[in-house]
Amino acid sequence: MYKSIIIGTGPAGYTAAIYLARANMNPLVIEGMQPGGQLTTTTEIENFPGFEQGILGPELMDNMRKQAERFGAEFTAGWVEEVDFSKRPFKVKVEGKGIIEAESVIIATGASARYLGIPGEQDNVGRGVSTCATCDGFFFRGKKIIVVGGGDSAMEEASFLTRFASSVTLVHRRDELRASKIMQDRARENEKVQWALNRTPLEIVTGENGLKGLKVHNNEANQDELIEADGVFVAIGHTPNTSFLNGQIHTDDHGYIQVKPGTTETNIPGVFACGDVQDNRYRQAITAAGTGCMAAMDCEKYLEGSSVHDWSETLDQ
Ligand code: NAP
Repeated sequence: MYKSIIIGTGPAGYTAAIYLARANMNPLVIEGMQPGGQLTTTTEIENFPGFEQGILGPELMDNMRKQAERFGAEFTAGWVEEVDFSKRPFKVKVEGKGIIEAESVIIATGASARYLGIPGEQDNVGRGVSTCATCDGFFFRGKKIIVVGGGDSAMEEASFLTRFASSVTLVHRRDELRASKIMQDRARENEKVQWALNRTPLEIVTGENGLKGLKVHNNEANQDELIEADGVFVAIGHTPNTSFLNGQIHTDDHGYIQVKPGTTETNIPGVFACGDVQDNRYRQAITAAGTGCMAAMDCEKYLEGSSVHDWSETLDQ
């Protein structure tokens, strides 16, 4: 039996592993389908402190993994099928490996950005297609950008990207936006934002020099058209990766794990959450790493027997 199992290997999971391993807690880290998480699908990362010239996403994650290993964290590959948090020790069922038991669990499974699922999209992730304006906007200085989506994220990203882009075209599949009025107004007041509403995305189009634009179906004119752009930002929401929890951990209306404010404690003592799976707001590598550190410290205290409490009442208020 392990003192602690960490599920997930983005910056949150790896940071939790580094801290727990250095505290001699010998954590077992379950890597999942995409070891290293979302950052392994990006190229240059310029906003993670400590890398003056930037660092490649996969390299950053590999460094974190090696750092955790150096202090004794154990890794196993596998998909967590289900968990049983009803009594201690907690049980984590890993595909092909059976049930693994632990005194504590840190959930760091992240949130997956939703994609459109259209031709050309996946082939060009990191090559003109992005799901993170904060991460990649800087690479599109003076260029034409498309943002897809009609919610608050799309409005926010469109407004943010006008700092870099020569123009931002907001493409949405309906006439009506889902975004709150204030976010819509902010985007509408921005002269650099152009609107292509009632357009259903069909295909990311590339040419010899990279991305050419987005082919859409103009639902009003009932014809296909190409909207030219150097970059396409897909902002149609995120899905926190919590299905394996089967409702045992409290989540908010959007499925994000609820933690006691200012901590990483979930409604079950001994189960902690960090990174994007509990963060609908910032979703940055550095904030994920920060909460990974918090989870390890909260977990360590729990294992020492000093922070067990039930805060479900706080949540229900
Ligand atoms: P969202 O509100 O679910 O909006 C997703 C948008 O993407 C919708 O307009 C939807 O179109 C579109 N969409 C979904 N699937 C699509 C597909 N396959 N093809 C084309 N379009 C597709 O997601 P969100 O904008 O990420 O916001 C999530 C939550 O976070 C919301 O509660 C939001 O208020 C909150 N948030 C708040 C802020 C802020 O206040 N600063 C910023 C960001 C997010 P339809 O409208 O046609 O369904």
